Amino acid sequence: MKKIGFIGLGNMGSKMVTHLLKSNYEVVGYDINQEYIDQLSPNGLKKANNLNDVSKGTDIIITMLPNGDIVEEALDNIIDRLKPGTLITDCSTIDVNKAKELHKKCKVKNLFFLDAPVSGGVGGAENGTLTFMVGGDENAYKMMLPLFGVMGQKSLLCGTYGSGQATKACNNMLLATTMIGVGEAFNLGTNLGLDPKKLFEILSTSTGSCWAVNNYCPIAGVGPKSPADKSFEPGFSASLMYKDLSIALKAINDTNTLAPFGIKAQENFRQMVNDKKGDLDFSAITKFNE
Ligand code: NAD
Repeated sequence: MKKIGFIGLGNMGSKMVTHLLKSNYEVVGYDINQEYIDQLSPNGLKKANNLNDVSKGTDIIITMLPNGDIVEEALDNIIDRLKPGTLITDCSTIDVNKAKELHKKCKVKNLFFLDAPVSGGVGGAENGTLTFMVGGDENAYKMMLPLFGVMGQKSLLCGTYGSGQATKACNNMLLATTMIGVGEAFNLGTNLGLDPKKLFEILSTSTGSCWAVNNYCPIAGVGPKSPADKSFEPGFSASLMYKDLSIALKAINDTNTLAPFGIKAQENFRQMVNDKKGDLDFSAITKFNE
């Protein structure tokens, strides 16, 4: 069985690593926060005191870190110590071009790299139901498939280097814009004197239905339980959505794509974060939309 190194044991990483340990993988884990490593060691996680420890004898390294600069810094620290053929799978959400650069850096050293961001949030990480959108080489993808199967319920090789991050940027731009639209529809309905529960009943079964209405309705007491029912406790925070939309915005500019709604969504989330509401669930944008 392959030996795994795992870097970044926060909200997502700690849950993903737990599935690997339950499936009897040997995993050595590192986080700058020692407490997070200690919490997982009773489950069988081998402690790494530094990044060097993660790189020793590992076949596959998984990173689940806040952003692309941090992923690059971690990779730069270990890249010269990894044995040829080692696979690095970055599951963090990072900039598309940064992912491509990391692929190139690894290739020069005869290492494999996959960009494999996830959808499904902390709940999906906990239940092992994440979706992995993967960019890179088919051989590397095949090497990683058993681990994707342990940590998630779906993975797809979306294309070449950077395609996983590109897919994630498209998905989250769509999610942000639909969530804003859903909030506007409910606000209009309320102002027209409609009962939001009845509006939900029609929207969720009509052409207006979408994930933001049917599964994550941003109105308290309407639809299945969602962060709106818990004063917008995340879930998926507005700050993380703002980060993802900023990645999408960069991609929009780099590719000269016409995407006025995506651009406006990024502005709205930036405002929410500037107003110190970034810790709320992203669906609270329906309350702060301007
Ligand atoms: P988090 O902040 O809870 O976890 C990140 C971890 O990285 C922290 O424990 C932090 O201590 C650690 N870390 C930071 N710098 C480090 C370094 N140099 N070396 C080692 N460890 C370091 O974040 P998260 O919610 O787990 O998200 C991780 C990634 O997953 C992000 O890129 C995020 O965008 C993405 N993501 C998150 C969600 C979600 O719902 N939380 C959903 C999909 C994707």
